[in-house]
Amino acid sequence: QAQQQTDLPYAFCDPGTDARVREQLEFEAELHRALEREEFFLVYQPQFDLATGRIRGVEALLRWRHPIRGIVSPAQFIPVLEQTGLILQVGEWLLQAALMQARQWQQAGFPPLCMAVNLSPRQFQGNNLLTQIETALSTSGVKTDQIELEVTESLLVEDFPGTLQLLQTLEQMGIKIALDDFGTGYSALTYLHAFPFHVIKIDRSFVSTIGHSPKSEALLQGIVQLGKSLQLEIIAEGIETEAQRQHLLGLNCDTGQGFGLCRPKLPHELEALLKTGYL
Ligand code: C2E
Ligand code: MG
Ligand code: MG
Ligand code: MG
Repeated sequence: QAQQQTDLPYAFCDPGTDARVREQLEFEAELHRALEREEFFLVYQPQFDLATGRIRGVEALLRWRHPIRGIVSPAQFIPVLEQTGLILQVGEWLLQAALMQARQWQQAGFPPLCMAVNLSPRQFQGNNLLTQIETALSTSGVKTDQIELEVTESLLVEDFPGTLQLLQTLEQMGIKIALDDFGTGYSALTYLHAFPFHVIKIDRSFVSTIGHSPKSEALLQGIVQLGKSLQLEIIAEGIETEAQRQHLLGLNCDTGQGFGLCRPKLPHELEALLKTGYL
């Protein structure tokens, strides 16, 4: 939206901009059609107990299979879904899809795991997020303690009226709330006690400094200790190497997620892992 507003007036004198605007509009139109054409799908990235290798849960990650471009990264299209408000419909679809998948795994007799779903700030601005969550829970039959909702600090900073209350309601229902990408935003410590979090997800930019920056390592250690002293579970994101896993284990970090442990995968690709429950 903002992009168009600033670009459009100049489109008359700059053919390059004109082309870009048209491309942007086309991209939006394609995203509109993607839902009904069933081009969205979810991949799931496991989260493991770092000490035992036991699977703790999976994070649902959205993908778009574009007929020509192929698989498009969420980094490219989530911002557009947010700007256009399409995230409300796509968010509803994906909550439903993720919980139905959790249900299928339960019915297959796999050990119970937590299904983590990302929420955009925009979804809190509508008035039916709670209803969407309740509907997805009741149609799937998944219990509230088997879902985790990931939010980022940008939600808390925006300070929509009702956000705190909604998060508290979800927490009282037994749903876990995770603070995603911790360490990249304001990382204001007041949020940690003002909002009902169960989990802090430490951003991968911190994990990638392991072995390279003593200062960042000290910060990482501080974050883990702080989280632990607040009785929060800590998930380290973006673990790519065994050295990183060992380092985090040494810091007493509970849980990890990353390409070095397991990449995000389609449900059928995860079955062997889910059957045993161990990495
Ligand atoms: P996020 O929620 O922080 O998700 C973690 C991202 O890090 C995922 O990228 C994942 O594939 C990637 N990742 C995991 N392990 C590693 C690693 O070891 N190294 C590296 N380099 N990357 C790793 P993805 O799937 O491209 O998602 C990017 C972001 O898009 C997500 O960040 C989230 O903010 C957003 N997103 C994805 N799916 C959804 C969704 O269903 N709803 C909403 N609202 N946002 C979503
Ligand atoms: Mg996430
Ligand atoms: Mg993250
Ligand atoms: Mg991220």
